[in-house]
Amino acid sequence: MLKTAQQYVDSLRALKIRAYIDGERADGVVDHPLVAPHVNAVAKTYELAHVPEHREIMTATSHLTGETVHRYTHIFQGPDDLVKKIRMLRLLGQETGTCFQRCVGLDALNAVYAITFEIDRSEGSDYHQRFVRYLRDVQKRDLMLAGAMTDPKGHRARSPIEQTDPDQFVRVVERRPDGVVIRGAKLHNTGGINAHEVLVMPGTSLKPDEKDYAIACAVPADAEGVIFIFGRQSNDGRKFEGGCDIGNPRFGVVGGEAMVVFDDVFVPNERIFMAGETAFCGTLVNYFATWHRANYGGCKGGNADLLIGATAKMTRILGTDRNAVVRDKLVEMIHMNETTYASAVGASAMGYRLPCGSCMVDPMMANTVKQNITRNVYEIGRLSHDLAGGFLATMPGQKAFENPEIGQFVRKYHTANPEFDVMERVRIGRYIENVTSVTTMVEAMHGAGSPQAQRLAMMGLSAIDEKIRMLERVIDADDAVRDVC
Ligand SMILES: Cc1cc2nc3c(=O)[nH]c(=O)nc-3n(C[C@H](O)[C@H](O)[C@H](O)COP(=O)(O)OP(=O)(O)OC[C@H]3O[C@@H](n4cnc5c(N)ncnc54)[C@H](O)[C@@H]3O)c2cc1C
Repeated sequence: MLKTAQQYVDSLRALKIRAYIDGERADGVVDHPLVAPHVNAVAKTYELAHVPEHREIMTATSHLTGETVHRYTHIFQGPDDLVKKIRMLRLLGQETGTCFQRCVGLDALNAVYAITFEIDRSEGSDYHQRFVRYLRDVQKRDLMLAGAMTDPKGHRARSPIEQTDPDQFVRVVERRPDGVVIRGAKLHNTGGINAHEVLVMPGTSLKPDEKDYAIACAVPADAEGVIFIFGRQSNDGRKFEGGCDIGNPRFGVVGGEAMVVFDDVFVPNERIFMAGETAFCGTLVNYFATWHRANYGGCKGGNADLLIGATAKMTRILGTDRNAVVRDKLVEMIHMNETTYASAVGASAMGYRLPCGSCMVDPMMANTVKQNITRNVYEIGRLSHDLAGGFLATMPGQKAFENPEIGQFVRKYHTANPEFDVMERVRIGRYIENVTSVTTMVEAMHGAGSPQAQRLAMMGLSAIDEKIRMLERVIDADDAVRDVC
């Protein structure tokens, strides 16, 4: 079944989640001013699946049932699916101007699908069939999943069992005949607070004596012992005010991240997809991260389309739009944006088949996409700030524009090209301010792994020796002489 946007919102209301927002217990999250924009962004993913012109990229045919499912619950069957995913992300980025939060869950579904197959093939376990049953349910109910991989991690130079506090990585603290009890936390959960389920995965490769930490499982968002603690974002207090100072009032900025605490949560056997198979954790993390890194060329591409649009409009408002240098800066923004989009499409088109039959993106290209994103999103933002001018940082708030005593001055002296209403300049300026805030930038930097994580992967994939051999084949003196002869 494809949920409608309204059905998604209604289904969230039915959940009895334990959530804390701004340090206080929240009874419901759907209508909370700090969460509502993020709910709207996810609702858009549901809405577009029902729009005929977008159906081809927003939906897919389930390889399990042959039925139409949301692409956000689909297992990638080939390069075509992967390319359509990137196209979907760009579309959603353009429609919301922010993070629409379902990608982590999608890539987590795919990673657990692939790894359970490989564990069973090696160990004779039955995780894969268990997971397939779970996946059928996810597809049938069109669930919104949060993917929970990043542990608090404590001291970065120490492994899970070397930590002073053993709970710095999610772990099994009790084994029962019918399931396990888990304890720990996952930080930075995108969409966690407005998801139906949390798909928990280990966040690092593990040693054989770290079996308790090798746990992958699905936990309903309102399971006993699950606590969501919502993060703060730049300018979030403005969401209580309404008006144009918010920036992106309907969809917010980034994914509305929460930390999720597992305060001794019982997980029944049918929801456990890995419990102790340490040898497979590195591959699981790698699968998830590789798919996830390619995504950024799609979603950030869509977001940047809006930022480029906002910046271009601002140049018209300032009267600079016909200047060749200004136009060239816009071209540079477009160039960087299309470069990462092209790499994401390329990584998808070059996908290869995994043992389970699903399709993995080209890993070198996917890591390159994300590495470029850690720079290009900042650079595109820098050029936007450059072209928009200093008022981004200094302009008075909406109330000043409305004040009967000073409003006339604020309006008069913020009017640039008189063809445009001053409030248009303010609204677009606030949009640029918010979508280039530290929240957005840090997501580009750290989402799907820090820049160094991509560089390590690229070094591992670099085949330097093979490149040296290629060189030697080309410049080999004997061959050259023979060719001439
Ligand atoms: C907006 C946002 C949304 C996110 N959403 C999700 C989500 O939905 N689900 C999820 O699971 N995760 C999510 N993440 C987490 C993201 O994957 C992590 O932030 C990322 O992997 C980096 O981990 P960290 O934040 O712990 O930083 P760290 O790993 O602490 O990195 C900080 C710096 O330390 C370096 N470093 C780390 N360890 C070492 C070491 N041993 N030696 C030398 N240098 C080291 C890193 O390279 C980096 O430069 C999200 C992050 C953000 C910012």
